[in-house]
Amino acid sequence: MRGALTIEELQQAVAEGAIDTVLVALVDMQGRLMGKRFQAEFFLESGHRETHGCNYLLATDLEMETVPGYKSTGWQTGYGDYALKPDLSTLRVTPWLPGTALVLADVQDHRHHDIPHSPRAILKRQRARLEAMGLRAMMASELEFFLFRESFEEVQAAGYRWPTPISAYNEDYHIFQTSKEEEVMRAIRTGLNAAGIPVENSKGEASAGQEEINVRYAEALVSADNHVIVKNGCKEIAWSKGRALTFMAKPDTRAAGSSAHIHQSLWTLDGAPAFLDPAGPYGMSTLMRRYLAGLLAHASEITYFLAPYVNSYKRFAAGTFAPTKAIWSADNRTAGYRIVGEETKAIRVECRVGGADLNPHLAYAALLAAGIDGIERELELEPEFRGDAYAAARAREIPTNLRDAAEALRKSKVLRAALGDDVVDHYVHAARWEIAESDRCVTDWDRARGFERA
Ligand code: ADP
Repeated sequence: MRGALTIEELQQAVAEGAIDTVLVALVDMQGRLMGKRFQAEFFLESGHRETHGCNYLLATDLEMETVPGYKSTGWQTGYGDYALKPDLSTLRVTPWLPGTALVLADVQDHRHHDIPHSPRAILKRQRARLEAMGLRAMMASELEFFLFRESFEEVQAAGYRWPTPISAYNEDYHIFQTSKEEEVMRAIRTGLNAAGIPVENSKGEASAGQEEINVRYAEALVSADNHVIVKNGCKEIAWSKGRALTFMAKPDTRAAGSSAHIHQSLWTLDGAPAFLDPAGPYGMSTLMRRYLAGLLAHASEITYFLAPYVNSYKRFAAGTFAPTKAIWSADNRTAGYRIVGEETKAIRVECRVGGADLNPHLAYAALLAAGIDGIERELELEPEFRGDAYAAARAREIPTNLRDAAEALRKSKVLRAALGDDVVDHYVHAARWEIAESDRCVTDWDRARGFERA
């Protein structure tokens, strides 16, 4: 399901007065939607061709800090503009915002070349590599988040202390508890569906107030676009109901973490499942085994894109279903990489490492780059891991903190070749800034522990 609105349909809707506002948004480094609200007539007149935005939008942190030290932009170059080129195939209504449509934009220079460190451009580059190999990636994100009784404004006014989860108990698969949350969750499912995003289901998750939402898999760029629109839409819909929610990977010490499991499969351009070979183990084709071997070989290097903040690493705790080992297994939830849909057309790899705070365009691109390397170098897949991966002493660990993940990214020859040196350096810089910001901050934990007793 793509392009819920054509430009002609938009024209019609504007003429009828059904739509008066068009959001033009880029996907920033954090996977957020950033852009402008167009009066619909002006979007139709010129905005649908191009608009502009300050180039610090791909060089800032969550706080919109003008982070020093980026090669691409900064005070030294006077923070100029990027061109934002709407990708009209992403145009859709957003029914939870009255009279409003949304389109995602590519970030380009003034000669209309994609900016290499723009998340959509990074994913498009890996997509083009696959296409040259006669392949297409189908991906899906399973997104988790926490939903609260309070509003965003109340949580903010309380200094972001842990608010009251919408439920009082672990609601994993609970129907009764989730019935109590339908005012928000039904609005999310039906709203997103009406925006052309095929939500498969939502369910309660394994902590009080924790939710999961699943969207039907799609071609990688479509799926990553869906993912960022889902996150933004969930926040907007919850906000409209006076509720807060969070996609932080580990929002509270005592609660479970929130993940973004990523399902991946490769298909030929004419639609045959390239991961399936009924004669292979579990029905895995040689191509799939090589792809998976690539994911494992580069698991450390891609971790930054699956866990981009200091907080992301607090989710990786033993016995919590958040994997800490880069091993593969069939239907074993302690493995970082799990085979799902064995022996069928739906055969796929599920990467369970990423947190709900990841940027899907970057995460998908990094996974594809690792997998493509496995295919190109014809890597041999190691034997399957069996048992409890948390207890496996000799299994390959992934970085357990942002510092190590940033260093693994910096040294990655494969990601440098796939994404470009400047792009890797850009994100290493982002990681180092995040670490430096965290290093200098005094937390609640510091104060509670040390105030009297240090
Ligand atoms: P589980 O119950 O094991 O979590 P689901 O059936 O809910 O698995 O599917 C999880 C996600 O995997 C869904 O978003 C679904 O669309 C996606 N998916 C299904 N088949 C494929 C595939 N071949 N490639 C990629 N994703 C897929």
